[in-house]
Amino acid sequence: MTGTPEGNRPATSSSAAALPPPSADPNIGPTLISAEQIAERVSQLGAEITRRYADRPPLLVGVLRGSLVFLTDLMRAIDLPLTIDFIAVSSYGSATRTSGVVRLVKDLEQDLGGRDVILVEDIVDTGLTLRYLRKNLAARGPASLEVCTLLARRSVDVAAQDVTFVGFEIDDDAFVVGYGLDANQRYRNLGHIAAYVGPGQ
Ligand code: 5GP
Repeated sequence: MTGTPEGNRPATSSSAAALPPPSADPNIGPTLISAEQIAERVSQLGAEITRRYADRPPLLVGVLRGSLVFLTDLMRAIDLPLTIDFIAVSSYGSATRTSGVVRLVKDLEQDLGGRDVILVEDIVDTGLTLRYLRKNLAARGPASLEVCTLLARRSVDVAAQDVTFVGFEIDDDAFVVGYGLDANQRYRNLGHIAAYVGPGQ
């Protein structure tokens, strides 16, 4: 999903100016994945995609908004004449985890017919969003459809979910922010991935 599960919302403030910068925010916990580790892994993923898609330049489909930062770095690590597009979904369900119904809130602009599509996700948590998107995109007749996710929960069987490219595995109980991932739309601009330790945990 694109937003934050309700239960993970940080306290809101009446004035954005009163909010501390991310670097001094007490709701940001320990660094789980550093900016350097991310850069190195993104570069590896880019090289792997460049090799595997050499004869069929891919269309990267980013899932807004969480995958935005990842996609912008990843595409620059791919040495192919690729194209990009974006899709946005929202999901409703339990307070602290995405579950229930996934709904399309912004569709792609490009036709997927005959294209080699790589769906770029921020995190595969329960896999619900991924299952919805895979079904939705597969129905549009792409030549191929693979998935590249920055993060996957350790308990997720990525092989069973048919996820080809995984940046990092993370613990099941960590709610993380940064590098595109949010808590109530904040912290996407952190350069690293950190545990969120604010209200709602
Ligand atoms: P799924 O459908 O796989 O259960 O949920 C995937 C979506 O849930 C992600 O795209 C993301 O928006 C949200 N999500 C799941 N875990 C986290 C987390 O630890 N941090 C943040 N910021 N979002 C998460």
